[in-house]
Amino acid sequence: MASRAWSIATRLCHPTSTKVDGYGAMSTPIFQTATFAQPTATTFGEYDYSRSGNPTRTVLEEQMAALDGADRSFAFASGMAAISTLVRLVPSGGRIVTGDDIYGGTSRLLGKIAPRLGISVEHVDMCDLDNVRAALSRAGTKTDLVILETPTNPRLRITDLAGVAAAARACGAICAVDNSVMAPVLQLPLQHGADIVMTSATKFIAGHSDTTGGILSVRGKELVEQIAFIQNAEGSALGPFDCWLCLRGLKTMALRMERQQRNAWRLAEFLSRHPLVTRVNYPGLAAHPGHALHMAQAAGPGSIVSFETGSVDASKAIVEAANLFSVTVSFGSTNSLISLPCFMSHASIPADVRAARGLPDDLVRISAGIEDADDLIADLGAALDAASGGGAAHAAEAAEAALAAEELDKAALVARIKQLEGELAESRKTREN
Ligand SMILES: *Cc1c(COP(=O)(O)O)cnc(C)c1O
Repeated sequence: MASRAWSIATRLCHPTSTKVDGYGAMSTPIFQTATFAQPTATTFGEYDYSRSGNPTRTVLEEQMAALDGADRSFAFASGMAAISTLVRLVPSGGRIVTGDDIYGGTSRLLGKIAPRLGISVEHVDMCDLDNVRAALSRAGTKTDLVILETPTNPRLRITDLAGVAAAARACGAICAVDNSVMAPVLQLPLQHGADIVMTSATKFIAGHSDTTGGILSVRGKELVEQIAFIQNAEGSALGPFDCWLCLRGLKTMALRMERQQRNAWRLAEFLSRHPLVTRVNYPGLAAHPGHALHMAQAAGPGSIVSFETGSVDASKAIVEAANLFSVTVSFGSTNSLISLPCFMSHASIPADVRAARGLPDDLVRISAGIEDADDLIADLGAALDAASGGGAAHAAEAAEAALAAEELDKAALVARIKQLEGELAESRKTREN
């Protein structure tokens, strides 16, 4: 039979590895050891110390490199440990350009730690390529590193990956993409010209809210060597057991993400027709300003939706009234999660900066889990009802009507989502081959 390139769902279940355990174990053994005996006092074996390398970690890193299309991947103790390593690539006196809608922890690292290292940081609206080009080549400054997210968290704004990567290359800056929201199942930034892709393994890779981890997938010998050196020197690698949790998570990642995406799509459609909701951010909606660009560079809109109600009180009430949605930071879990980013994951960004960046306090972020979509819609609908004040009969009735309309439209909607998923799968195959 003619050889064909396996699609990602298959490759997730059948990783290839240079590490063989000798027994054909279907689950990668956990090498829970700090040290490895040396063959002689003056020669080293393949492994000597787990900070420098561990076989369980190697299996994870090899699989991630294959998925991301990288020369090599590195597993870190968390996404932030991985991003912190990116910052280490920048010399003192150097400069980073990043987006104005970025993860709160990244914003804190760049705002509070980078300046201590003598690194300056400029935040720009990455959705506007001219802005990015202007920032990169501002008179008298050389940019060393560009860090971008697309879709951004939490507003799901879309950046032109290839455009920014080309602009970064043109001025000699390293282009790093935080791909935590998409993971390799939905987006492959290295294919669009990025040098490094960061994925918080805490999210879709581990997938069950059971560990933290971060991956850097890197192109180019020089960058690979630098990152290997920094990881070993600083001791920020992921431990063997956590690597194993990530490896187990990877096997079901495509399955989970497809279900989560379908659920998110249904929730986004439901929210966009609800009277209490003033705005919905989801790149799968045709009305989303980045819809066409996103669909051209990714294989699906993902499972994160954010929305506004125009009232912090109403948003807070919704978050607290939803039963199936746990109120937690993070996303990408089997369980649906709901949060108020300005009070939770993004609270470390000062209020005036949030306001200047257009990050509204009433923004609610949902991460769709793998539960039944009808249950999720019913539960969120009830939470919206509750937020309408109970006494506010008009709004509650409107919510009921929206739910009824949703029931009517459901079959058509599911059919449309299936069709879109089919088209996306086709375009992904074309890209992969
Ligand atoms: C969660 C997250 C991070 C940080 O990852 P941790 O594993 O929590 O350290 C970075 N970027 C984005 C977009 C994230 O969502």
